[in-house]
Amino acid sequence: MEIKFMIKTLYSKDVIAVRVDELAKEISAHYGDSRPLIVALLNGAVLFAADLVRSLDIEIMFDTLGVSSYENDCQTGKIDFRTRLKINPAGRDVLVIDDILDTGFTLSKVADYFIASGASSVKTCVLLDKNLEGVKKPVKADWTGFECDNLYVVGYGLDSNELYRNLPYIGVIDTSI
Ligand code: 5GP
Ligand code: MG
Repeated sequence: MEIKFMIKTLYSKDVIAVRVDELAKEISAHYGDSRPLIVALLNGAVLFAADLVRSLDIEIMFDTLGVSSYENDCQTGKIDFRTRLKINPAGRDVLVIDDILDTGFTLSKVADYFIASGASSVKTCVLLDKNLEGVKKPVKADWTGFECDNLYVVGYGLDSNELYRNLPYIGVIDTSI
């Protein structure tokens, strides 16, 4: 794909796979036989969640939730729930999976939503947590894959105007080319 030469790799396919396995071990050990409800936030977390849940060695339930707080690579300041859950989270241990924690706005709103829905517990897992240098975030994920620099990243589910989600690695668009 010609695209490869425009994107500078930050996390390779292999590096991501190793970290996803580590997270899966920790998450499996935490939940044991409690059958958590794992909810992947659409669309960005789909690839990460697909790999993560397949590495778990516990029974889980799986659902997705369409959430959006960004348009044209800019935060809109509000969150939209674009789909509905299939599984009722009330009384369940919910683990929310997202691709990246930036300001933390999305994940804090989603966690509030699950608490208000009567979940027994709500935990969060993100592949990336952006270092915003001194900015205090409203939420910290319970499990984080990598802490990354404050750059706009794409690949492995993350898009730029809906492109690049299918890249097997994560990188930054190299504008110098
Ligand atoms: P937050 O609400 O934490 O500021 O933003 C979280 C959401 O914004 C993520 O779920 C993701 O969809 C999007 N986002 C934040 N930073 C990036 C980025 O660097 N690249 C991409 N593709 N999406 C991002
Ligand atoms: Mg997202």
